[in-house]
Amino acid sequence: MSKNNEENFKNVISHAKEYGFVFQSSEIYDGLSAVYDYGQLGAELKNNIKTYWWKAMVQLNENIVGIDSAIFMHPKIWKASGHVDGFNDPMIDNKDSKKRYRADQLLEDKIEAYKVAGDQQNAESLQADMDEALKAEDLPRLKALIEEHKIACPVSKTCNWTDVRQFNLMFATQFGAMAEGAEEVYLRPETAQGIFVNFLNVQKSGRMKIPFGIAQIGKAFRNEVIARQFIMRMREFEQMEMQFFVRPGSELEWYNKWKEIRLQWHLALGTDPKKYQFHDHAKLAHYANAAVDIEYEFPFGFKEVEGIHSRTDFDLSQHQEFSRKKMQYFDPEVNPETGKPYGNYVPYVIETSIGLDRFFLVTLVNAFEEEDLSTADKQDSRSVLRLHPALAPYKAAVLPLTKKDGLPEKAREIMDALKFDFNMAYDEKDAIGKRYRRQDAIGTPFCITIDYDTLEDNTVTIRHRDSMEQERVAIADLNRIIGDLVSWKNLLQK
Ligand code: ATP
Repeated sequence: MSKNNEENFKNVISHAKEYGFVFQSSEIYDGLSAVYDYGQLGAELKNNIKTYWWKAMVQLNENIVGIDSAIFMHPKIWKASGHVDGFNDPMIDNKDSKKRYRADQLLEDKIEAYKVAGDQQNAESLQADMDEALKAEDLPRLKALIEEHKIACPVSKTCNWTDVRQFNLMFATQFGAMAEGAEEVYLRPETAQGIFVNFLNVQKSGRMKIPFGIAQIGKAFRNEVIARQFIMRMREFEQMEMQFFVRPGSELEWYNKWKEIRLQWHLALGTDPKKYQFHDHAKLAHYANAAVDIEYEFPFGFKEVEGIHSRTDFDLSQHQEFSRKKMQYFDPEVNPETGKPYGNYVPYVIETSIGLDRFFLVTLVNAFEEEDLSTADKQDSRSVLRLHPALAPYKAAVLPLTKKDGLPEKAREIMDALKFDFNMAYDEKDAIGKRYRRQDAIGTPFCITIDYDTLEDNTVTIRHRDSMEQERVAIADLNRIIGDLVSWKNLLQK
């Protein structure tokens, strides 16, 4: 990360805390690593992101429905899905610093360092060796690579490493009253399995016809070996996932469609398209026949925000085998090639999976700006969050110019008329310029100022966050003006 980017990212993190977006969990007890709480504005922003996703996926698509499944699930589900045996990260400890690392990440950092130093040859050979070792789950080989390339612990600067061990990322807990006889259950590491095991419930009760999708927003838990970069990698986080069930053979067509639809969802918010890229998976998971990440350019580089995966019939077939319940769908449509119905089959699945918290971080990083407003004779700047108006925690702030002469009363009247449609802020403390800056810093798109003229002619000043321009409008028009600019419709139509 360049100095500039590092500084910028630090500013985003402290801004998020200062204005009540994100707090470290259990802060007064020195925090719990990689767990975060959303504050009063963070909760609003997060809800708005969820609404944007839910409306785009469920409300706009009549063949997609949403569910809300439990976090606890039958332990066999995680056997069937492959998580009990395969949801591991290779970890390694430095014996001097007692710090723990992911072996693959140490190697990746080294590859990156080779690249930066212009040593393409070593970068490529280490990449190939690492890929091979990971694929073969050859842990001694991973350790050998760390030693061969003289990778030192960033803290102790020594190469005194333990062996590499596999570490399962699922949190387990006891289900039932007493430890004795209690069963071990897991906190779900992804929301997707809740969709798969309800596939037939939803299909039958909702009379769904293939192709159709099931969407879900919910918490997921992963005991990440190391967690860093703020809310980028957390141990408790939220996912927004959609499983789209299709006829076998049509999956790649749907995969390409969903790739484009999902990228468009990101870009509709007005983000510079150069900030996004697709990253095809070179190595596919055993159950996938195509997979791509949608990556955003964070201050620390392009990183995954969302994954689109063509998962074949792997999950449903596994559940069919482990539960001994049929996971088939009867497709009555006639296959033009055979002249007969497609009949019974286990559907194929395209998954779109986005991390809510990670996208929250995208939103913050992308919106945050320290804007230089200096003129020839005066130094000036402001912190502004250029959030899309539909996502902004407050849609408008009502600001009486002074605290007397009936202005606060008039302001309250306006606020009371608008609050049924919009989440509104009210502020009468400090000079008006300072109040504008406070709203800029939390991303409020409009400030409505009530002055002495308002009492005479029922007009107010609207100040726009991004341009800082002001216009005079009638109170009677406020609802329409704000409504147009913050509406879901405008955003969703894109
Ligand atoms: P990574 O390679 O970054 O660990 P992943 O490939 O394991 O991610 P998926 O299992 O595909 O991620 O999960 C889908 C999405 O969930 C990711 O794109 C990401 O946005 C989010 N996500 C995954 N793990 C975390 C985490 N520990 N904290 C926050 N978000 C996460």
